[in-house]
Amino acid sequence: MEFRLIDRIRERTAQGREDVRLGIGDDAALVAPPVGQEIAIAIDTLVEGVHFPQGTAAADIGWKSLAVNLSDLAAMGASPAWALLALTLPPHAAECHAQFIDEFAKGFAQLAQPHRLALIGGDTTRGALTVSVAVHGFVPPGKALTRAGARVGDLVLVTGTLGDAAAGLQLLQQGVRIDEGDGRAAYLIERLNRPTPRLAVGLALRERASACIDVSDGLLADLGHLCAASGLGAEIDAALLPRSSMLLGAFDEASARDFALTGGDDYELCFTVPSARVAEVQTDLARMGCGATRIGRMVEGDQVRVRDEHGQWLEVTRRGWDHFAP
Ligand code: ADP
Ligand code: MG
Repeated sequence: MEFRLIDRIRERTAQGREDVRLGIGDDAALVAPPVGQEIAIAIDTLVEGVHFPQGTAAADIGWKSLAVNLSDLAAMGASPAWALLALTLPPHAAECHAQFIDEFAKGFAQLAQPHRLALIGGDTTRGALTVSVAVHGFVPPGKALTRAGARVGDLVLVTGTLGDAAAGLQLLQQGVRIDEGDGRAAYLIERLNRPTPRLAVGLALRERASACIDVSDGLLADLGHLCAASGLGAEIDAALLPRSSMLLGAFDEASARDFALTGGDDYELCFTVPSARVAEVQTDLARMGCGATRIGRMVEGDQVRVRDEHGQWLEVTRRGWDHFAP
């Protein structure tokens, strides 16, 4: 049975690539790495009930399991080539598996195909529903973006909008259905289930961004990682945080700010650019159809601090974000 399932995956994700000498079906895949390129490698695991809610559609799981990995390649400025897929499926009847696999592979392929990414192998086991994807991408030697390298005075930018995915998750947890309301819920839940990895932006940022990270755990957490790797701190203006009209229409200002600062799963890129180059970078990214918003700057220290619209510093309290007591 396993073999028939693997065949279904192979058929649905077929992608002709010259550099894949032997794909799914043997004991290992064989690839011909391009001469003179470095290979960026990343792996991420999604566990049902932890990284996606129970009841998430198989096609959405397929898309997202690849998207979160492509987002890591985007953050490195790498272009994707190959992937491995380790699937752990609960012990259900064979026909349930076939249906799950068909839908899963469809969602996976929808994202893989436009990027010419080839699924070249994997593993299939029994247990709690868990999906691990490993990706490999190419980057010219020495040109990868990393979390280290930001300088004092560099400006902090972020692509797209923040907080949508966390808002979508909260709606799902409140029992809101995707077809409810005026399309806001559908948009926010789609942002949770079908994140867009910013691959083209990652390539455009090579040799321009001083540091880069993707926002998977929330802006403050991930910018914190960039700061730690760069040995610096950052100051963010809450008033500058890019939020979608859907988010602002569905939640009050304080919740929307909270989602944007601490909500995970957006898979936007957060990066730093020397101030003299910001205008040029913003123009180029806008032309690519993915705006980038300046939200703050890098400073000495090791803290990420957030200023509200009155210039006062915010701090985390048990109730969420609040003002410092005077
Ligand atoms: P082995 O026991 O030698 O590891 P498997 O039966 O696990 O072989 O896998 C057979 C072939 O199918 C291998 O080429 C493997 O990479 C591929 N494969 C197994 N599971 C998956 C999967 N979930 N997705 C893609 N390829 C898979
Ligand atoms: Mg195996």
